[in-house]
Amino acid sequence: MAYLTLKNINKIYPNGFHAVHNFNLEIEKGEFVVFVGPSGCGKSTTLRMIAGLEDISNGEFLINGKRANEMGPREREIAMVFQSYALYPQMTVFDNIAFGLTLQGVDEDIIEERVKNIAGILGLTDYLDRLPRALSGGQRQRVAIGRAIIRKVGVFLMDEPLSNLDAKQRVTMRYEIAQIHQNTGATTIYVTHDQTEAMTLADRIVVMKDGYVQQVGTPYELYFEPQNVFVAGFIGEPPMNFLRGTVKNGAIKFGDIPLDLSKKLPGIQKYEGKEIVFGFRPEGIKLGQHDGAYQLTCNVELTEMLGDNTNVYITAGKDQAILKVDSHDTPETDVDITFSIPYESVYLFDGETEKVIDCK
Ligand code: ATP
Repeated sequence: MAYLTLKNINKIYPNGFHAVHNFNLEIEKGEFVVFVGPSGCGKSTTLRMIAGLEDISNGEFLINGKRANEMGPREREIAMVFQSYALYPQMTVFDNIAFGLTLQGVDEDIIEERVKNIAGILGLTDYLDRLPRALSGGQRQRVAIGRAIIRKVGVFLMDEPLSNLDAKQRVTMRYEIAQIHQNTGATTIYVTHDQTEAMTLADRIVVMKDGYVQQVGTPYELYFEPQNVFVAGFIGEPPMNFLRGTVKNGAIKFGDIPLDLSKKLPGIQKYEGKEIVFGFRPEGIKLGQHDGAYQLTCNVELTEMLGDNTNVYITAGKDQAILKVDSHDTPETDVDITFSIPYESVYLFDGETEKVIDCK
């Protein structure tokens, strides 16, 4: 039996706004699940319903098979880490971390041992006497995590915990959160709008848009088997290139260049006269001409050297795409380059429903 079950969960706010639609998910004990999606898609609302901070309008939430809709936040044995840290400014790091246990009246010796242990895991041993204002953002975030994990709860909920940190701190804390999860094995639900955070931390990712779940899967599944245009464009950096076009004689055009899909994808005949979306990832191409691939020659508009690789912005008529190439192969701007899209790197979607289509 799943540890947490969300069955047809909906949230309709008192003003009538329907923020979450028929959310279904089963989470196993110890899993690290990430909710990801653009601002306003309903991630925090769903997390807050799981925490018991927001009523569930309809649907059922079960913990260990037991209905939990009516349980208060404490009864659910869930700890939450907020974006704002929510530390007590007048309390030392030690007291902030100890807070939950102090409230429960736990023996002082045990509290001291647990706080020291957690401070060790989080690299806070030297800061236990400090007040939060004398800490960096990353250190404050670690205190907030420490305060959550000291209570031996079943589930950790984290709502954009890294969003107040700079880019470098985010990478360090991401690593630390992954380590803490490995060490504690605690079931974790983590909310972010950052696809890199989602990909690097998650066992499974839930991609949301406009209150609807778009796809649930492992990072691998979401990257290689996106079920619709939204997921394909959301996961991956730079995003997947999309070419919208009407299928004519089994081909669509990239600028003026026809791409004959019919040879490799005979099923495309079903879409004759209809719009499809042809997708390929910037990193899915090869420079030059190769067998088993669509060949294209396009003009280089701009290049961005990023160190190990370069983003190459190309145009062909009204169509544009980004190619990711080894930085040693960075082309000049305003010249034509030829590249190949291997057949197996192509994704096709229905232009109307935007769902993936199989034309093999
Ligand atoms: P973000 O990444 O910006 O935090 P999110 O995906 O977490 O976004 P939510 O905070 O869950 O999004 O909000 C989902 C939708 O519900 C938004 O359109 C938001 O404006 C709306 N919403 C949130 N709280 C309320 C409320 N109390 N009353 C009405 N609508 C609300």
